[in-house]
Amino acid sequence: FANVSAPIRQLHRIYDDMNDAIIYAEGYFDILNAKEQVEPSGAITKEIEGTFQLSDVSFSYPGGSPALDNVNMRIEQGKTTALVGLSGAGKSTIVNLLSKFYVPTEGSITLDGINLQDYENQALRKDIGLVLQKNHIFQGSIEDNIRYGDMNATFESVVDAAKKAYLHDQIEALPLQYKHDATQLSGGQQQRIAIARLFLKDPPVIFLDEPTASLDAIATEQIKNSLDAIKRGRTVVIISHSLSQILDADIIFVMEKGKMVEKGTHDELIARDGTYKKIFDASARSLNLEKLVSTYKEI
Ligand code: ADP
Ligand code: MG
Repeated sequence: FANVSAPIRQLHRIYDDMNDAIIYAEGYFDILNAKEQVEPSGAITKEIEGTFQLSDVSFSYPGGSPALDNVNMRIEQGKTTALVGLSGAGKSTIVNLLSKFYVPTEGSITLDGINLQDYENQALRKDIGLVLQKNHIFQGSIEDNIRYGDMNATFESVVDAAKKAYLHDQIEALPLQYKHDATQLSGGQQQRIAIARLFLKDPPVIFLDEPTASLDAIATEQIKNSLDAIKRGRTVVIISHSLSQILDADIIFVMEKGKMVEKGTHDELIARDGTYKKIFDASARSLNLEKLVSTYKEI
C-alpha cells in the first residue's frame, strides 16, 4: 500500500496548487472561505498601498521540508520587484505567503506596516491581482472571460481593458469578435485575457508568477507590451525565466534553496559575479543556442 500513497499525495499536491491558482485568480469565494478556517481572517479592511516587509521569515509546507529559510525582503510600493532562482528555490512560496494563503512558520510579514495576519482576507485579495503560468479560461465568450475581473463592468470597459492588454485588435479580427469562444484562443491571447482582467480589477498590487513560461518566444514578445502597461504605477512582484522581464526591475532578489542570497539591480548583480550572474549566463547561452538553431533552420 505504501507504493500507492505516494502518487496519491502527489495528486493532492497538484490539486492543491490548482485550487490555489483558481481561487486566487478568479475569486471563488466558497473555496476561499474553506481555506479561511485554516488561516483566520483579521479585521483590517483598509485600502492597500503596497509595501511588504518580510522579517526573518521561515516556512515549511504542512508535512513538508523547509521551503524558506530566514528571508528578509522589502517589497516597495509602486516598484517592480523580481524574484530569480532555479526551480524549487522558494519563489512561488514567497508569493503564496504574501497573498496570505499560508502563514510563516517563523518571522513575520507586514503590509504597509501592519501585520498581514491582521488584514481581512477578502479585503486583501480585492487589492491583489495575479497572473500565473496558466490562467483559468472558461468556456464562454471573450467578453465574459474578461469581465471576470469585475463582474459589474460594462461592455465599454471590457473593450478598454482589452485595448490596454494589447488584445483588442486581434479580437476585432475574429468573426464573432467579443462573442468568440475564449477557449479557442492561443496561449498568448489567453494570457492577455488574464492581463485584461487585471486592468478591470485595477488592483494596486500585482503578482506575476512565470506569466510567459508556457508560451513560445513570439507569444512572449507579444505579451511584453501588455505586461509593461499593467506594471505602471503598481507594486509588482514578478517571477520569470525570461530575462527581458527582469532586466529593468527596480530590485532583483536572488533565491537559492529557500534563502535570499543576493539582491540588487541587474547591473549590480552582474558586477557581483555570483549566483545571478551564473543564472544569467546560462539563460543567455540558451538564448544564443535558440538563435543559432533558428539561423540554421533558415539555411
Ligand atoms: P519555485 O517557485 O522557486 O520553483 P517553490 O516555492 O514552488 O519554488 O518551492 C519551494 C519548495 O517548496 C520546493 O522544495 C517545493 O518542492 C516545495 N513546495 C512547493 N509547493 C509545495 C506544496 N504545496 N506542498 C509541499 N511542498 C511544496
Ligand atoms: Mg514557482
